[in-house]
Amino acid sequence: MPTLATFIVGMLCMYLLCFAAMLWLISTRLEGDRLGMDVFAVGNAMLGLVYVLQLAGGPPDWSLLNLLNHSLTLCVPLVYVVGGMRFFGRPTGLLKPLLLWALAYTGAQLLVQWLAGTAARYVLLALTSALVFFVMTLAVLRVSRSLARELRVEMWLFALLIGGLGLFNLAKARLVAQGGLPALDMGQPFHVWFYVYMSFLATVLPPMMIWLVLRRLTDALRDAAGRDPLTQLLNRRGLLTALQGHFSARQARPARLLMLDIDHFKRINDCHGHQAGDLALRQVAQVLRQTLRQGDLACRSGGEEFVIVCTDAEEAGVLAMAERLRAAIEAQAMACPDAAAPLRCTVTLGISQAFHSLAELDAALQQADAALYRGKEAGRNRVEPASLKP
Ligand code: GH3
Ligand code: MG
Ligand code: MG
Repeated sequence: MPTLATFIVGMLCMYLLCFAAMLWLISTRLEGDRLGMDVFAVGNAMLGLVYVLQLAGGPPDWSLLNLLNHSLTLCVPLVYVVGGMRFFGRPTGLLKPLLLWALAYTGAQLLVQWLAGTAARYVLLALTSALVFFVMTLAVLRVSRSLARELRVEMWLFALLIGGLGLFNLAKARLVAQGGLPALDMGQPFHVWFYVYMSFLATVLPPMMIWLVLRRLTDALRDAAGRDPLTQLLNRRGLLTALQGHFSARQARPARLLMLDIDHFKRINDCHGHQAGDLALRQVAQVLRQTLRQGDLACRSGGEEFVIVCTDAEEAGVLAMAERLRAAIEAQAMACPDAAAPLRCTVTLGISQAFHSLAELDAALQQADAALYRGKEAGRNRVEPASLKP
């Protein structure tokens, strides 16, 4: 007659293997960056296998199967760590560290078994697991302050759950150290609680991972919808959203808008081809990124036209910044494969008056456009402030 704990372990196997299949299926839909989902699937499948072997292996004893199972058990947290690293965009190898870790732990097991016997080997497993889980808890808390600031709540929850697992393992180590192998009898109430907690984790963690992936994907979609694919600057939609964010702040400062247009851009396309034109657009975008101040917004509004919003509208500063931009673009030489000499281009910039809300955006665009037109008429490659006349 199976004990309650054995029954729970059987259920746990099913959860783990089902979620492994689900995580794997999700990872196959994520082309390119799989966000660590394939690795999490492997981790879940390995843990499922651990419990299958535990059920098949019978009562705790000294056997090769048991030795392998302990090493496999301790490899699982490492697999999850690698999955987490990959989720946060830190590509990390899996097989080599896993093999090294398994070998090192198998060696430690053999030594402990030889020196102190089977019960000590179980204490070693519980203690090492506890240590690994406590280190993982600290690492997750650290990540919540660096790589995943927008996922703080989720990271704290992960830390809490993993920390709980560390405590359970610590308690198990104490139990076996005091009671020896009989303490591992599945009829003991401790094991019911231990495996209930494991089942809880196996049920809660995979949906949490899926939630994180969903957040990543929807954020990336939203971001892509607001960006120009050629230059990676904001597009009109992205600019509107960012401006909304700026003006909805309680103490939003007035802004000033710059309209920038590449001079004689058609000539670049006509003489050197469309690809050279695209290269010029990317180069201008790069100069914008390097020259603008933090908080300023840069947008490719269409064709060879860019809109820049300076969120600090002080006139002299904006004029100086526009002049810096103009000079930096003029100085930039572009290596173009189809041209004998590096290409250069110039830009003309029109500047609006200060504006205070999204409702004034159209007026600011018109002012900057009129100033830009005057700059073009006056010979191009210049900065033209808005006229004071309405
Ligand atoms: P001006 O100094 O008066 O601004 O003259 P211009 O030649 O820069 O302006 P015009 O409006 O006559 O030409 C703009 C050209 O930009 C025409 C169009 O083919 C080209 N263009 C628009 N979008 C793209 C693009 O994404 N890539 C490339 N390579 N060219 C583009
Ligand atoms: Mg132009
Ligand atoms: Mg134009």
